[in-house]
Amino acid sequence: MKEKFTVNCAVFDGEKVYENATVTVENGIIVSLEEGCGKAESDLFLMPGLIDGHAHISQPQQLDMLVNRGVTTVCDVSVSKEIRDMGHKINIHTSHISAKGDCEDGAGHVEKTIAAGGDFIKLFIEIPPAMAPRTIPADILADIVDTAHQKGLKVISHAASVPAQQMAIDAGVDILLHTAMRTATPKELVQQVLDKKLAFMPTILMMKEFTIEPFRDYEEIGFEYACNAVKLFYDMGVPVLVGTDANDSKFVPAIEHGSSMAVEMEMLADCGIPVLDVLKGATSLNADVFGMDSIGRIAPGKKADFILVKGRPDKNISDIRNIEKVFIGGEAVE
Ligand SMILES: [Zn+2]
Repeated sequence: MKEKFTVNCAVFDGEKVYENATVTVENGIIVSLEEGCGKAESDLFLMPGLIDGHAHISQPQQLDMLVNRGVTTVCDVSVSKEIRDMGHKINIHTSHISAKGDCEDGAGHVEKTIAAGGDFIKLFIEIPPAMAPRTIPADILADIVDTAHQKGLKVISHAASVPAQQMAIDAGVDILLHTAMRTATPKELVQQVLDKKLAFMPTILMMKEFTIEPFRDYEEIGFEYACNAVKLFYDMGVPVLVGTDANDSKFVPAIEHGSSMAVEMEMLADCGIPVLDVLKGATSLNADVFGMDSIGRIAPGKKADFILVKGRPDKNISDIRNIEKVFIGGEAVE
């Protein structure tokens, strides 16, 4: 590892853009960000490594696919202990085991997740028969969430319908995952999400896929509902997070690891989220909401996980496809 080096160019630090700044890295940690010192050395754009807030890792090569597209941290719900223990450079923040409708003991489930190496809790809340034989009873949901919070773990919940979202809100989860597609999302629901300071991760690409054969589960208008919901959550002030739901399952639409990140970001921008807020949703907001304090920003003391991008993704979101270089812990990934 190069002990100390500097990069001078346009920088997005996770909050705002500096047209010309110098970032200094020492021993894998960012030590300074200084604005406007000298002429920019390159036309590249430096920003925190992307955080895919929701993916299913089933094969080691998926980790390379993520890093190649600028993802330096993945919040995963499926990785095996073997893959996690391989020591890949990417940061894997995992739920490891997730609760479906068969969970009988809330506190016990949280203990089991922690023992299995889990960093957060993923809950599956859906109103049967959609995707689940039965739903987790409200008292067990509340027990899971309360225990997780006592142990310092965040809770993310699959909830792809308004009634399921309401259950997740009532239980006090931290992040609502997916988007309601059968109906419009009511303002009153979003207001509760805002009042409880929760976040929203739409996985809009996956929702779109569910309106297309062979997994068509919703009418075309479902995507309109989803896109409008994204805009409503954003406009009312709820943090909108970027997560792709990348997976290679046979039972749901396959979403490719890595390349889907740019597509998700483009689609969120198309739904009406300003580009800079899409960048935040893929970096600092994901880090904040999951409690990953050492990453997600270009700031002194943070881990030197960053990407160099050709173009200006803060102006044209599709430029996020042009990843030139990826650094994890201050080391360039070849
Ligand atoms: Zn998923």
